[in-house]
Amino acid sequence: MIRLLRKYLKPYWVLLLGVIALQLTQSMASLFLPSLNASIIDDGVAKQDFGVIWSLGGIMLAVSVAQVAGQIGATWCGSRMAMSFGRDLRQGVFDRAISFSNKEMSRFGAPSLITRNTNDVQQVQQLVQMAAVIIVSAPLTMVGGVIMALREDPGLSWLIVVAVVVLGAVIGALTAQMGPLFAAMQRNIDTLNRVLREQITGLRVIRAFTREPTEAARFDQANRDFVKTALAVGARMMTLFPTVFFIMNLSQVAVMWFGAHRIAEGGLQVGQLTAYLSYLVQILMSVMMSTMMLMIGPRAAVAAGRIQEVLETESSVVPPANPVTELAKHGEVEFQGVEFTYPGAAEPVISDVSFKAEPGKTTAIIGATGSGKTTLINLIPRLYDASAGTVLVDGVDVRQLDPDLLWSRIGIVPQKPYLFSGTIASNLRLGKPDASDDELWRALEIAQATEFVTDLEAPVAQGGTNVSGGQRQRLAIARALVRKPEIYIFDDSFSALDVATDARVRAGLEAETAEAAVIVVAQRVSTIRDADQIVVLDEGRVSGIGTHEWLVANNETYAEIVESQFAEDETGGSGVSA
Ligand code: ADP
Repeated sequence: MIRLLRKYLKPYWVLLLGVIALQLTQSMASLFLPSLNASIIDDGVAKQDFGVIWSLGGIMLAVSVAQVAGQIGATWCGSRMAMSFGRDLRQGVFDRAISFSNKEMSRFGAPSLITRNTNDVQQVQQLVQMAAVIIVSAPLTMVGGVIMALREDPGLSWLIVVAVVVLGAVIGALTAQMGPLFAAMQRNIDTLNRVLREQITGLRVIRAFTREPTEAARFDQANRDFVKTALAVGARMMTLFPTVFFIMNLSQVAVMWFGAHRIAEGGLQVGQLTAYLSYLVQILMSVMMSTMMLMIGPRAAVAAGRIQEVLETESSVVPPANPVTELAKHGEVEFQGVEFTYPGAAEPVISDVSFKAEPGKTTAIIGATGSGKTTLINLIPRLYDASAGTVLVDGVDVRQLDPDLLWSRIGIVPQKPYLFSGTIASNLRLGKPDASDDELWRALEIAQATEFVTDLEAPVAQGGTNVSGGQRQRLAIARALVRKPEIYIFDDSFSALDVATDARVRAGLEAETAEAAVIVVAQRVSTIRDADQIVVLDEGRVSGIGTHEWLVANNETYAEIVESQFAEDETGGSGVSA
């Protein structure tokens, strides 16, 4: 936590200095007031000296103004500092999260990243704000208060010691129990978010399988756990304040009792006793504030740890130190003995894959579900890095390439295309912000999307949920086309299209992508039978590479796939679907 604070508070050191200076003024003023008050009573009121009352009253007024001004100023600087700190921290977490590869993303999970960047940051921010209010004033008041009180009357000093020790012990005991509870609370919030998010995302599945009661019970459980922890925290909070005030009032009564005796003995004046009481309250208040700080400390420390974990995680896909920024070739992808193992998995899902996709040619990848097709093409834009072997784009290892250059060469249509909230146009311009309307319409035409798009400004919901799966795929194809990349990657992009639309889209693409390297992952043989080369994947290994005709004659795996789909076609099916 200290490291986090040091790094993110550094830009605001001026504000921090302001907080300290203003708090110093404020606490000095508060410490001065009771003794002034005592003088007024003892030297002015008791002696009926109006001159003293007026002049001391004037000084008191001035000191009070200084105190109020200091307090307001310190709070202003503190809030500004804490809020700016929170903003920078959120930005830091966001920047880090966005650099993560799929590996780190799946390690944290989206719900936890969201909690960390909202609730956790807020906890630390709260600590900073609270610290800004009391960091200087509490210790200063505690020490200063004791000194000033002793100046008024050393005879009653044992009372202060007793009160501070009792109060400290009580609050300390309660605080110690609250630390672990706060840590549990952060975990509860994480779980609650995760369950809720999963349920909202999978709502249709839940309904379709009538899992509502089970899911409701699951949410209920998470909710109850959270409430239980929160109540346990609340119960301690609840005991805290009455106990604190009880001790405070009790010690005031004690001061008055013993003080009265001292006045009767003539060792103390009335004004001094009043001042003594004020100092006692000030001291106990600052003890309470400090322990409260200790109380939110553990919670903020837990939150800071969780934030730090995100900030310290390096993406496993690191951009090169000296990236290649010039490329001689255009639109070529080559796999050389590539192997890939998912983190934590025992066996590689891809092994010894070598082939070359050339410009102007279409390379198809076919294989059973789970044979590693998606994994293979995810290595091209470096969503993951190969565990062994090399992936080359335009003759350069992708790990050596400037990431922006690499991505600018690739137009990818993912298996599950994601559309952003906005309009059709804003989504299509994602890869080329300055594309003209004509370019957009042309891309939509090729992707066979003009039949359902009549207005470029039509709204698109987050995730593209207001269009059908097939429409979303066609919009994603159009989006890749607008960019005019040198390498097209279609990951099962035609599966949600009916056979006729599939054929029309491919016919349109052929002219458009004549110069580019096209890599098509497909399930349907009909989608890829005209490809220049077909790579047949079988359990992550290349079982054969060739044209449709060649593979039918020479590759058993491919022949089987063709046969199974042919048989289905005869019975009226439209091919194997994902
Ligand atoms: P395909 O696209 O051919 O259907 P994939 O490349 O999606 O196949 O998956 C290949 C294998 O890798 C599957 O056995 C799958 O279980 C595994 N796999 C896919 N994604 C992950 C992941 N994120 N973590 C671990 N294993 C994965």
